[in-house]
Amino acid sequence: MTKFIFITGGVVSSLGKGLTSASLGALLISRGYSVRLKKLDPYLNVDPGTMSPFEHGEVYVTDDGAETDLDLGHYERFTGVAAKASDSVSSGKIYSSVLEKERKGDYLGKTIQVIPHVTDEIKKFINQGDDKIDFMLCEIGGTVGDIEGLPFFEAIRQLGQEKDNNGCLFIHLTLLPYIKASGELKTKPTQHSVKELRSIGLTPDILICRTEIEIPEKEKEKLALFCNVKPKNVIPAIDLRSIYEAPLSFHQSGLDTAVLNVLDIKPLDDPNLSLWKDVKRRIISPEGEVRIAIVGKYTQLEDAYKSISEALTHGGMANKTKVIKKWLDSEDLESGNVERILEGYDAILVPGGFGERGTEGMIRAINFARTKSVPFLGICLGMQMAVIEASRNLAGISDAGSEEFSNELNKKTITPVVYHLKKWLEGNRLVTRKLTDKKGGTMRLGAYDAVLKEGSKVRKVYGTNKICERHRHRYEVDIKYKKVLEEFGSVFSGLSQDGMLPEIFEIPSHPWFIGVQFHPELKSRPFAPHPLFSAFVKAALSQSRLV
Ligand code: GLN
Repeated sequence: MTKFIFITGGVVSSLGKGLTSASLGALLISRGYSVRLKKLDPYLNVDPGTMSPFEHGEVYVTDDGAETDLDLGHYERFTGVAAKASDSVSSGKIYSSVLEKERKGDYLGKTIQVIPHVTDEIKKFINQGDDKIDFMLCEIGGTVGDIEGLPFFEAIRQLGQEKDNNGCLFIHLTLLPYIKASGELKTKPTQHSVKELRSIGLTPDILICRTEIEIPEKEKEKLALFCNVKPKNVIPAIDLRSIYEAPLSFHQSGLDTAVLNVLDIKPLDDPNLSLWKDVKRRIISPEGEVRIAIVGKYTQLEDAYKSISEALTHGGMANKTKVIKKWLDSEDLESGNVERILEGYDAILVPGGFGERGTEGMIRAINFARTKSVPFLGICLGMQMAVIEASRNLAGISDAGSEEFSNELNKKTITPVVYHLKKWLEGNRLVTRKLTDKKGGTMRLGAYDAVLKEGSKVRKVYGTNKICERHRHRYEVDIKYKKVLEEFGSVFSGLSQDGMLPEIFEIPSHPWFIGVQFHPELKSRPFAPHPLFSAFVKAALSQSRLV
């Protein structure tokens, strides 16, 4: 029988509920259990696909093509369990499906209400899935007290009543602010947060408290008394050097033991934490370092490139190297002195993005990387810009551009080496798109196979001729330009299975120049770094030794 663990947050947001859930998932796996993690987001968007990365950070794409919250990336990175579309929901999605049922007549005769109709839909989402899973971890987005969150809290309260004894466990994550002047940790905000939870019928079994310092025994007892939990179930979450230390740190704090005790489960085995010990060793004692510039559009918010940042760290771990990441706004490269801005970096990465702003700066950065033999990795928009750069400066197509940036309004005349993708094969099914289609969920999304060219660099990097990577794009490099670009020394080294869609672009005469239409960063894990990122950091390391 699956046990349900609900993780809620209080006091302030950004305390790391996602990482906490992911770490607990990793610890349960290390004890031999199976887990799934789900994220319930109270916002009204149907999914984060149409939200600005500045608003919400990265959109994490699953194999089955869902555009989800970035926390699903943490879950995958920590547990190695591939997330699915059915692991992520928002109020928008819940309400859409309730309203669709209402229109269909499913509730005929009834008045539709938050309780029970919306809460039933939330419970259905939580309950759906494989009941052979030992633990289902459900993280509720936002903090207790948010208006949008109420139906979710009510739904998990009801589940707590409906499941068998010891079928559910509630974890509440809060902050213990440290007052430097008096040298004290303050418990009051946590007390208030738990009071708020209890006022809606939820009593936490375990409190996890973010703190800068160890929680003194006296404060633990106070928290336990006022919040009605056992002192041993007050678990500190101390600030760490790296997020990848979290599973070990939580284990030392007794989190997994507390969870099993509350659920009255006799542990199967001692946890096998060797994986996480190895990860920690690699991350805290690197033997070298490289400096990598990421030239992107959303660089003010590192969360906008969360998986890229983590995948670079993993690439560093594979090479026992610390990766110093420098986030550069591509707009600054449009008028600035590119050589001065980019000198001193061991490699350049141009990530994905949407819209024209900053793309000419990306093209200038790519030109610098190509002509100065600096290792380069282009991802999605980064690959498209690399093809435009090569079209303009190698193949002499001076007005090469992307249909994404030329439209009815600006009437730009371009040679569209990157065009709006109107049809593609998903397995044997033909998918078609029009520019007038609605925006939500209509890109080429999710995992697709690609075939790698014999003798190419990517073929060597992957060590196989067929790969499967996740996509999220509306535009595509036009296969029509393959011939002309290859005449000028580049290679389309990866193609979709039907040979129609360029997936990888590389320049063999360059030390390391690869652009990919997909998002390899989404599949990188600390204990299994993605081969492209390992090879990219390795190339950066060789570059750093040249200088
Ligand atoms: N904007 C480009 C497209 O839609 C690239 C997308 C991306 O970088 N994820 O094709």
